[in-house]
Amino acid sequence: MVFQRPAAELLPRHPVIVGGMLETAGSGERHAHIYPGTGTVTAEIRLAGRDDVDRAVAAARAAAPAWAALKGDKRRDLMFRLAALLEAEAQALVPLLVAENGCVAMTAAYMGHDAAQKFRYFGGWADKIEGRTVPTWGRSAHDYVAYEPYGVVGIILPWNGPLFAATMVLAPALAAGNCIVIKAPELAPWSVMRLVELVHLAGFPPGVVNLVTGGADVGAAMVAHPDIAKIEFIGSGATARTILANAAATLKPVGLELGGKSAVLVFADADPAEATRRALSGAVSSNGQGCVNGTRLLIERSIYAPFLEGLGALARQVVVGDPFDPATALGPVISQGALDRISGMVARGVADGGRLLVGGARLGGAYADGYFLPISVLADVASSAEISRTEVFGPVLVAIPFDSEEEAIALANDTDFGLGAYIHTRDLARAHRVAGAMQAGQIQVNGAGEAMIPSVPFGGTKHSGHGRVGGIEGLREFLQVKNVWMGL
Ligand code: NAD
Repeated sequence: MVFQRPAAELLPRHPVIVGGMLETAGSGERHAHIYPGTGTVTAEIRLAGRDDVDRAVAAARAAAPAWAALKGDKRRDLMFRLAALLEAEAQALVPLLVAENGCVAMTAAYMGHDAAQKFRYFGGWADKIEGRTVPTWGRSAHDYVAYEPYGVVGIILPWNGPLFAATMVLAPALAAGNCIVIKAPELAPWSVMRLVELVHLAGFPPGVVNLVTGGADVGAAMVAHPDIAKIEFIGSGATARTILANAAATLKPVGLELGGKSAVLVFADADPAEATRRALSGAVSSNGQGCVNGTRLLIERSIYAPFLEGLGALARQVVVGDPFDPATALGPVISQGALDRISGMVARGVADGGRLLVGGARLGGAYADGYFLPISVLADVASSAEISRTEVFGPVLVAIPFDSEEEAIALANDTDFGLGAYIHTRDLARAHRVAGAMQAGQIQVNGAGEAMIPSVPFGGTKHSGHGRVGGIEGLREFLQVKNVWMGL
């Protein structure tokens, strides 16, 4: 198979969409988008600027009363129409998803279907948002609780899996009756640009969803804007700290979906083949750049050596390379900077006493100009080492042995993060016990990624954020509570 490159003519051309107008240039900086598979520029984008944010917020604000007042069944029907468009376009989305950040075609192939599922799931909620009545005492009264939209919600997205991240918050925010200003990340803009084009093709009223493709300055303008009632942020903890500080001026709530260093606990009674395959997915999923990837392997000492031997053998079989090739499982990391950072962390992990089981230098030959790294597995790393504690965001796993269930739990919770945890065991009582002891937002027993479906609440504790996407909990993030007390 010949190494493929993105075709520029297929890429969306509207970095700014305001009030239903598709615009070919924003008022901000020019950005040269680099395809990580080759390290070359695919296109130049005229990003949004502060003026565009102001226009987008004004359009969303103007559309908000009618959108909130529209009957839920009408919002549902529009969301179902969008789902149908996404489904029909699933194959056409693949080259955009690959081109924007090196996502492998194998993964990109289900992203359109996944996006459609989210609009169907949350479209189904749009006409079922019910309040409740509350018993009162004292004076005779009738008291009820109503759930209402915020008005204008700002959505700020990361470059890893932007379509996945966008749809997991856009769908519930729309179902709840909010209007949206969404920022596509400049590093990986194409799939979200296309998503908002499809929103308009589906017939959503102008101004309900507005797009501003841009960088930190655009995000900061959204956070500062007095007419954005809530920010939903998906990204790193470092940026989240800045956003929270900046949101203080307008006192707006900020939903936070942040990073992780999720533990994978492998007990001796686990199915070895399944546990190995799932453990390896922590290095492979999203090219190792997934927030909830299980990257800290905690393995019962009695099976530690054979498990790592099997893991190393499987890691060597993973096809690394051209992300357009449907057989490729692991594509490039996002940038030269990311490649250098990851390589530096692996080197320091070795210096800290880690034993490199597999891994090594970046790929050469046809891949030398792209940002390709093989899977690295570091064994015998101390839980206190930098590589055990920091989100690497690359195809890197660390492995630590444990001797007892208590020690496994202590090691798993020995982290600032709290996004996911994975438990591999065939002992049901232990599975419940350990799941109950995990300090993380989502626990998967004998699974890896299967829980990332629209009906299931997902989100973090500790430094991984708060709030949830998915399920009724994800819908409630975009609804305000109003209480009405009526004296009788
Ligand atoms: P990042 O924090 O660098 O950037 C995220 C977004 O914030 C970008 O759109 C960026 O332009 C914007 N931004 C930067 N500075 C800003 C500011 N001052 N004000 C407003 N916006 C600003 O994160 P990233 O590198 O794009 O993404 C990777 C991170 O995202 C990882 O930590 C990953 O774990 C996390 N992530 C979390 C989830 C989740 O659901 N929990 C999903 C995907 C990614």
